[in-house]
Amino acid sequence: MAAAAAFLRGRGAAAWTFQHLRQLHTVYQAVELPETHQMLRQTCRDFAEKELVPIAAQLDKEHRFPAEQVKKMGSLGLLAMDVPEKYGGAGLDYLAYSIAVEEISRGCASTGVVMSVTNSLYLGPVLKFGSEEQKHKWITPFTNGDKIGCFALSEPGNGSDAGAASTVAQLVGNEWVLNGTKAWITNAWDASATVVFATTDKSLKHKQTLDSGRIGIASQALGIAQAALDCAVDYAEKRMAFGSPITKLQAVQFKLADMALALEGARLLTWRAAMLKDNGKPYTKEAAMAKLAASEAATAISHQAIQILGGMGYVTEMPAERHYRDARITEIYEGTSEIQRLVIAGQLLKEYHG
Ligand SMILES: Cc1cc2nc3c(=O)[nH]c(=O)nc-3n(C[C@H](O)[C@H](O)[C@H](O)COP(=O)(O)OP(=O)(O)OC[C@H]3O[C@@H](n4cnc5c(N)ncnc54)[C@H](O)[C@@H]3O)c2cc1C
Repeated sequence: MAAAAAFLRGRGAAAWTFQHLRQLHTVYQAVELPETHQMLRQTCRDFAEKELVPIAAQLDKEHRFPAEQVKKMGSLGLLAMDVPEKYGGAGLDYLAYSIAVEEISRGCASTGVVMSVTNSLYLGPVLKFGSEEQKHKWITPFTNGDKIGCFALSEPGNGSDAGAASTVAQLVGNEWVLNGTKAWITNAWDASATVVFATTDKSLKHKQTLDSGRIGIASQALGIAQAALDCAVDYAEKRMAFGSPITKLQAVQFKLADMALALEGARLLTWRAAMLKDNGKPYTKEAAMAKLAASEAATAISHQAIQILGGMGYVTEMPAERHYRDARITEIYEGTSEIQRLVIAGQLLKEYHG
């Protein structure tokens, strides 16, 4: 910000308004992260390297919930990142959250989704819609990893068509009674509380708000994509063919270039969606674009990583095949790629025609 102000002063740009400075600050952030965010990124990267990378394959093989690691993440403030400090959260912004989810997912995508669901899908709605009493009861004990939450929207009969959900909430005396069946719920076995989507009137179609969750999954996809690129570069630098490392082959270099390009583009879209949210601006289209771009980039990058590793890409001794499986689900949950395209087109047409 100071550098931006000095730049403007040097050119005698007195007509520039504070709004211009804010815009420049936003661009500045997109090019180089503020120092606080860089420190957070390094902290999360160190944590992921030490605590997650060594056990990610084992967790995957055993289908095990990372309970010990989640507890440690709670003590670092990673489970309630944008929750105000008065409820026990870290009081950070969504850009910080995006950066943290990416780094955790780079170490272990399963742990990344546990983090994303807890932050954006469980705590997010309670923070947005809960009363003061509910916030203290259902947020504070969930901020340090002692308890985690989950988010139950999907049902056996409907996923994309969330408005068709048939779970009903009925007020009986002074208690709400829920009737229905939910499916696919991440964290469900280990969660102490659930945000359940139910209707009080089945004849009413209702809207659901998943924009923040989409930034979380976009960030998870970035982490997976980065891990796949890391793996491909590391292998290609060591693998010899025709007398030199395969990084000398232009065909491999072109693959690496395309992978890096897709990743950087998706990352900028994701940070932009997060910054729009942080600035109180509409971000539905941008969150859908971020989720679509990042999840498709993760799939394409991890696909190419397998190709660069050759046979070793296909077997479980190396992480490339896990990255591909992890990437693939990011195109499905929290709205499939087809649904993201519908959201983007809907918003786009509104912009044209009001
Ligand atoms: C590992 C995992 C974790 C999950 N975690 C959670 C969770 O924590 N909470 C939760 O509530 N749910 C969760 N889900 C469910 C997930 O959100 C749904 O699977 C997803 O929304 C897709 O719904 P579906 O599987 O019913 O597919 P469907 O809705 O049956 O879609 C099938 C196909 O039809 C396409 N399609 C559907 N409607 C349209 C349309 N209008 N236009 C174009 N194409 C369309 C879809 O894109 C897809 O290709 C999870 C799923 C998985 C696999």
